[in-house]
Amino acid sequence: MTSSTDILIVGAGPTGLMFACQLSLHPNISFRIFDKNPTRATESRALVVHARSMEVLSQLNLIDKAMSKGKLVDSMNGFFSGKRAFKMDFTKMRDKQQPLLTRYPYALFLEQSNTEELLETYLNEHDIKVERGIDVMDVTDIDSTNNTGVEVTLSNGDRVRTKYVCACDGAHSTIRHKLNLSFAGQTYSSSLFIADCTISNSPMGQHEAGFFFHKDGFAGIFPMVGDQCRIVATINEEKQKNAETSFEHVSNMVKTRSRFHSLNISNCIWSSVYHSHHRRITTFRSRNRYFLLGDAAHIHSPVGGQGMNTGLQDAHNLAWKLAYVLTHSANDRLLDTYHDERSVVAKTLVNTTDRLFSIMTSNNWFVKFCRLNIVPYILRFFIQPLLNYSQTLRQAAFRRISQTGITYRSDKIYDYGASAGNFHKNTPLPGDRFPYVIFDSCHYHLVIFESQQLTKVSQFIQFIKTNYPEIIQIHDVHKENIPLRFQGAILIRPDGYIAYRTIVFDTNHFRAYFAQYFPQAIVI
Ligand SMILES: Cc1cc2nc3c(=O)[nH]c(=O)nc-3n(C[C@H](O)[C@H](O)[C@H](O)COP(=O)(O)OP(=O)(O)OC[C@H]3O[C@@H](n4cnc5c(N)ncnc54)[C@H](O)[C@@H]3O)c2cc1C
Repeated sequence: MTSSTDILIVGAGPTGLMFACQLSLHPNISFRIFDKNPTRATESRALVVHARSMEVLSQLNLIDKAMSKGKLVDSMNGFFSGKRAFKMDFTKMRDKQQPLLTRYPYALFLEQSNTEELLETYLNEHDIKVERGIDVMDVTDIDSTNNTGVEVTLSNGDRVRTKYVCACDGAHSTIRHKLNLSFAGQTYSSSLFIADCTISNSPMGQHEAGFFFHKDGFAGIFPMVGDQCRIVATINEEKQKNAETSFEHVSNMVKTRSRFHSLNISNCIWSSVYHSHHRRITTFRSRNRYFLLGDAAHIHSPVGGQGMNTGLQDAHNLAWKLAYVLTHSANDRLLDTYHDERSVVAKTLVNTTDRLFSIMTSNNWFVKFCRLNIVPYILRFFIQPLLNYSQTLRQAAFRRISQTGITYRSDKIYDYGASAGNFHKNTPLPGDRFPYVIFDSCHYHLVIFESQQLTKVSQFIQFIKTNYPEIIQIHDVHKENIPLRFQGAILIRPDGYIAYRTIVFDTNHFRAYFAQYFPQAIVI
């Protein structure tokens, strides 16, 4: 049987589910989502939902449910051979003079199975079903000279014709293999033992995470909902073959490395050995019709809990662009910005997490010596005082970890007319995330900071209302309670990043800019 749909999503992990949720906000497009597993995964796997992902969940009205199922963590502690070398306290990052500019100034520790359940329930409530137990087996371009689409072969024998295939099919992606895309990188020699369990007698608070560095390796304790915790410990390659991976062995490693000998670790609910890799593809869009997202496009060490969050952000970045191309005749060029923006994020992430994980786990005597004898002093006597002293530094560190600091500033992405006029250096730039309000992700949002009584402003507003009524919503800064002041306007993309700013309110300039992406919008 052959059927057709606008978009076919391969894989219903967190990335595919988030992508489907975002597409569901656009009623005029059709899509289907397949997963080869007959049921949703129940393993807890990724634990951290960072602030930027919480903002996206908030757009879907899912944040309260997410918070009720997880635990908010507001400090991270680093211990070296039993002594605390640093504490990053998120609560100290919020003050009235320098607000942190996110509604979610902490990390939410929520099991991946719960995140997936939330997203799938959302889909079901919107009458969308994940088609489970169906393996996407093959893809063939149809009439590639005219670029008309893809025929997808499913394991049940059906064929689906689609305009776009979105590969959210994880680290062993079938689509990536079919497209013959290289997934260059390496497998780390150290693996991670992970166990979810119960801990009592912990000297750390209920909302604190602990990282422990010891001559035998790294260990960590991360709080979960109720009195549950996740414990992790690294083990290197030579020891892996004969390693005992029992829960008792892992809990002993955590006690030894943390030097919290009185910890009472019991009641293991789930455990796993995580073999970590760092790999990425170089093109996130292939043969025009294929997009790769999440682990299908990049995998990296678990440092900073970035993996799942990056997949969620890939989905958030691409969904509105595809929807706009399909329903508002946006230029295909808009789709190229998915690769331009997200491949840079993935490259930086893979490189930084790789460097950190290598330092944390290396067996090289010199690195090991520095890790245990020099790094703790640098952290205790240099980094910690700096963090205590400088709010700016604290906030920069938080933005880096929480993915709220990601920007898409680039001449290549916004190559013409992104700014009209001369701006004060503190005015947010095109490509920056707009942190003050979380608008809906179906429209562009134009926020007017100047008086609407001025003729040039009212004419500009009228121009937008007349020409882009379906695409751009207009907001008055005074009604939105935004603490930013300048005499202009800012256009925000559906995913919350600044597309354009003006202080001259020149409609010709705006028209030329917007026509790059929306050439067919009726402009009067
Ligand atoms: C033990 C463990 C611990 C982890 N801990 C963390 C952590 O603490 N923090 C963090 O951020 N990340 C962590 N990760 C990584 C995190 O789980 C992944 O980054 C995340 O799952 C990626 O989501 P995804 O949707 O891109 O891919 P996946 O979750 O792998 O989902 C891919 C989906 O595609 C389906 N699929 C595959 N091929 C096909 C096909 N041909 N047809 C149909 N369906 C298909 C699969 O069944 C699967 O459901 C951990 C991973 C593991 C294994």
